Amino acid sequence: MLHEECGVFGIFSPIPDNLAVTVYDGLSALQHRGQEAAGIAVNQDRQISFEKGCGLVSEVFGKDRLKRLPDGKIAVGHVRYATTGETSEINAQPLVIKHVKGKLALCHNGNLVNGASLRKALELEGNIFHTTSDTEVIAYLMTKHRLKTPSIEKALIETMAELKGAYSLVMMSPAKLLACRDPLGIRPLCYGVTPEGKTVFASESCALDAIGARFVRDVAPGEVIVVDEKGLRSFRNHCDTKPKALCVFELIYFARSDSIIEKVSIQEARKQAGRYLAKAHPADADLVIGVPDSGLDAAMGFSEVSKIPFGTGLIKNKYIGRTFIEGGQRRRENLLRLKLGVVKSAVAGKRVVMIDDSIVRGTTMRRIVALVRDAGASAVHVRVSAPPFLNPCYYGTDVPSRDKLIACGHRIDEIRAHIGADSLGFLSVDEVLRLYPEKEPSEFCAACFDGRYAAGAPADFFEIRS
Ligand code: SF4
Repeated sequence: MLHEECGVFGIFSPIPDNLAVTVYDGLSALQHRGQEAAGIAVNQDRQISFEKGCGLVSEVFGKDRLKRLPDGKIAVGHVRYATTGETSEINAQPLVIKHVKGKLALCHNGNLVNGASLRKALELEGNIFHTTSDTEVIAYLMTKHRLKTPSIEKALIETMAELKGAYSLVMMSPAKLLACRDPLGIRPLCYGVTPEGKTVFASESCALDAIGARFVRDVAPGEVIVVDEKGLRSFRNHCDTKPKALCVFELIYFARSDSIIEKVSIQEARKQAGRYLAKAHPADADLVIGVPDSGLDAAMGFSEVSKIPFGTGLIKNKYIGRTFIEGGQRRRENLLRLKLGVVKSAVAGKRVVMIDDSIVRGTTMRRIVALVRDAGASAVHVRVSAPPFLNPCYYGTDVPSRDKLIACGHRIDEIRAHIGADSLGFLSVDEVLRLYPEKEPSEFCAACFDGRYAAGAPADFFEIRS
C-alpha cells in the first residue's frame, strides 16, 4: 500500500487566541496525509513555543501537551509521513530554528529533487545538520538569505530560486505567517478565512471546513503569501510558473474525498475515474464494491455507468494505532485482516467488481482478492482507478523504485494471474489526465505513470533516501 505524504496548516489571528486548539483540529482533518508524527508551534509576542512527537495528532497531543502551548497570534502545524529522512522524532515538524534576526518555524509538504546537493553545499560552508530531512535544507537557505535581505518574504523568494522539486510550505517568523507553493504547483495548498477574520492555510480544503473557515482560493503555483498586522500580500512574478504539474495522484488517492483542489471536487474526479473504467473495462457482474477509502467513489462512478448495483463489501478499521504496527512481524502480517473486513452477506455468491486506487507491488491486492473470495464471491474482477505504476515518485510520495513495481516487467495478464483476479483493468494515462474537464492534461504531473518528470529526475535522490 502507498502512504500519503504530509499535511501543513497555518493560521494568523488579528488578536491573541488559543490557536493551538484550532491547529489541532485542522491537523486532525489532515491526518490522512501523514500518521507518523505531528507538531504545533505557536508565536506569542514574537516568542515561538512548540510541541511535536511521533504518532497521530491525538496521540502526540494529549490534553496536557496541548495546554502547554500559549495563546498567540500566529501558529503552524504539521502531520508527517516520512518520504525522505528517517522516521524519528527528530524529523517531526514544525522545524524551529533560531538565527540572528529571530526564530523561524517551518512546515513542509513535498520533496526536493536537489536536496542532497544543496545539503552538501551548505555542509561545505560549515552548516551542521541535526535532521535527515530536506526541510532543514530549506530552513538553512532561508536563514542564509534572511541575513542579506530586508524581509523574510524576500528571503523566501530567493530561497525558492534555489529549490527544485515539490514544496508547499507554511512558516512563521516573529511577526509574519508565510505560505508558498513550488512554481509547478505539485502539492496542493489553499487558504481561507474564519468568521472572526483569521487567515488560514492548509494542504486541503477539508481542514478549512473542519475549523469553520471559508475557502478563499488555492495558493497559486509559485506564489508567496505573507500575512501580518498590515494584512495579506501576494508575490507572484518572481518565478516562471509554466508549465504546471499538480500531482494527479492527489485526485486518485492522497487527498480526502470532501476536499476541493484547484476548483474541482476530489470525489467527482474519483467518480469520473470509475465511469472511465466502466466504459473501457466492463464486466459481467452482480455487485460493484470499492476498497476504502479512495476506491469507494470510483466504485460509485463504475456503478453509475455499468448499472451494476453499488454495495459496501469492505469495511476499513480506522482505529489501529501505532502500537499494533510496531508490534512485531507476526502481528504486522495480520494487519490487512485487521484493517479490512469483508461483508460476507454482501459478496457471498456474487460476481464482484472490486475497485482500488492502485497496485504497487501486487502483494496487498492479492490478499484483498483472497479475502473477498474466502467470503464467498464467485468471481472477483479488479479495476484500478489509476494507470499502472511504471516509475518512482521523486516529489514527496513513496511510489517506490521500478524493481518494486509489479507493472515494470509484467504484462497485465501476468499481474492478473499474480493477484488471483478473474479480470483486471487499469485507467489509461490519457484518462487519468482528463479527470478534471476544466484543466488541460498538460497541467498535471503523472510521472509515476508516464515518466515525464516536470521538475526533473534527480541524480542525488537515492543518495538522500539512503
Ligand atoms: S510522480 Fe506520481 S505521485 Fe509523484 S507527484 Fe507525480 S503524479 Fe504524484
